[in-house]
Amino acid sequence: MRPLIVGNWKMNGARESAIKMACELADAASGLACDLVICPPFTLLYPLALALDGTALAVGAQDCHQAAAGAFTGDVAAPMVAETGATHVILGHSERRQYHGETDAMVRAKVETAVRAGLIPIVCVGESAAERHAGHETEVVGAQLAHSLPDNFAGVVAYEPIWAIGTGLVPTVEDVTAMHDFMRAQLLARFGAGAAQRPLLYGGSVKASNAGQLLAVANVNGALVGGASLVASEFLAIAQAATQ
Ligand code: PEP
Repeated sequence: MRPLIVGNWKMNGARESAIKMACELADAASGLACDLVICPPFTLLYPLALALDGTALAVGAQDCHQAAAGAFTGDVAAPMVAETGATHVILGHSERRQYHGETDAMVRAKVETAVRAGLIPIVCVGESAAERHAGHETEVVGAQLAHSLPDNFAGVVAYEPIWAIGTGLVPTVEDVTAMHDFMRAQLLARFGAGAAQRPLLYGGSVKASNAGQLLAVANVNGALVGGASLVASEFLAIAQAATQ
């Protein structure tokens, strides 16, 4: 499977510098044996998709609403995201679950709406520090997979332990291996043989310095990168590590 490296810019980026950086990434992306996606804030989706049209660098959103249209002030619908030229959408990120009260049921509804709009969903799951300390990580992630993914799911899953996001802490290679093997087994049991081809990303403090060992894990098919995706050289070094 071709590795997939996704950059989550979160609430960062201004138009001029974002276009410059995206074009720099796109130049490098064409020579890389992996797929690259950047997920800027909503306001940058259209200008970046326009600037990157015809390049090997794709654009994704960081969220969308579960309804396709309607009276939802301040929200953005999946068909609107698709209309910008974006191809992917991150759903159920722990910051959305934490700060916006998103539940598994909402994430599942968002996945369904996103797929109907032609977007590829990147669904995030992951346990808190307390849940891991209590030894409940597989139970938590198993429940998130069971309730956040619709029955016809054919997208991307990102394992992002909450305690590793933006902290510099990373699970051991053994822990990442165990969780990704568990997730693959869950997907195969529910969705059948086709689930072997669904990319499973690891996310949480991925940097150029640790990408090699994380991306070498058998069921890790790529990375979801936050902070390090804001620096072109760092993001590209992670992408390079994915192809080694
Ligand atoms: C994220 O928020 O998806 C993320 C993985 O962040 P960071 O790489 O900064 O830990």
